[in-house]
Amino acid sequence: MLIDGHGRKVDYLRVSVTERCNFRCQYCMPDKPFSWVPRENLLSFEELFLFIKAAMDEGITKVRITGGEPLLREGLDKFVGMIYKHNNDVDLALTTNGYLLKQTAQKLKDAGLKRLNISLDSLKPEIAQKIAQKNVLKDVLEGIETALKVGLKVKINMVPLKGINDDEIVDILDFCKARGIEVRYIEYMENALASTEIKGLLGKEILDKVKEKYVINKVGREGASPSFSYLTDDGYKFGLIDPHKHDFCEDCNRIRLTAEGNLIPCLYFDEAMSIKEAVKEGDVPKAVEVLRQVLKDKPEKNRWDEDDNESSARAFYETGG
Ligand code: SAM
Ligand code: SF4
Repeated sequence: MLIDGHGRKVDYLRVSVTERCNFRCQYCMPDKPFSWVPRENLLSFEELFLFIKAAMDEGITKVRITGGEPLLREGLDKFVGMIYKHNNDVDLALTTNGYLLKQTAQKLKDAGLKRLNISLDSLKPEIAQKIAQKNVLKDVLEGIETALKVGLKVKINMVPLKGINDDEIVDILDFCKARGIEVRYIEYMENALASTEIKGLLGKEILDKVKEKYVINKVGREGASPSFSYLTDDGYKFGLIDPHKHDFCEDCNRIRLTAEGNLIPCLYFDEAMSIKEAVKEGDVPKAVEVLRQVLKDKPEKNRWDEDDNESSARAFYETGG
């Protein structure tokens, strides 16, 4: 079992397979970075798997593949297959912007992927384009329908932004409700790389918008999920991720691995330790030692705050959100 320096059990590993992306979301990667990490500096799927396998053997039971846009990395279905074949009980999930799902959903499902989170910030083509800085909506919607058709369990992520898509909070909920899938609203997390003009809604402002149409009741959290569940009066369950409240961190169960092999203990902070050398040498005990050290030093909580916010310097597209 993996326990961090604050006594929290850590059983969830998020793996970013690339920092590259085909969108330029204003809250994440509004401009193309000055330089990408050269491809030869990325860990191969075999090297990433060597670490994931060891982490699963140490107590990781949930693995989420993310990015950047993970579907840009060729052979992703084979990587999913490696993890699934090692332990088919693992809760194996992927977060994607959905743009390439139409072509990949079936292969991912066949390889053993169980769940998908798809980002959908607007149902209006011009607003989706304004946020992603690309005409994306048609492909994303087709990607969602394909994922459902092939039998993947889907959740939708929406980041509500003031004056941009905050009038669509209920529309996105109704879109998801009609398809029997859950929406999770994510508070915009201030970070130094995001566009300076944007401002997010706090959790209570998001809930107020939902209350304009529905009576809602708080249900609570499922395990250590950062998402708090709510039920509408007609029985639809949705989630809210509000990192500006610190109970979000109380039982944080996660650790992040970047495509370059950096282990990141907290989404907010810059600290990281590399497992690259260890996996390149095939030295699994050394990689596990680094993992234990990172967990020992895992911060107690982030520094996003409702009243006195500090932006994080971390790129979400590097850590995988
Ligand atoms: N490209 C994929 C996608 O967009 O779903 C996966 C990577 S993305 C970094 C993972 C999640 O982080 C997405 O749901 C995205 O909306 C969210 N995200 C990115 N930047 C964020 C920010 N500044 N605040 C809140 N959520 C953010
Ligand atoms: Fe790309 Fe996802 Fe970041 Fe948007 S949120 S720029 S889709 S990594």
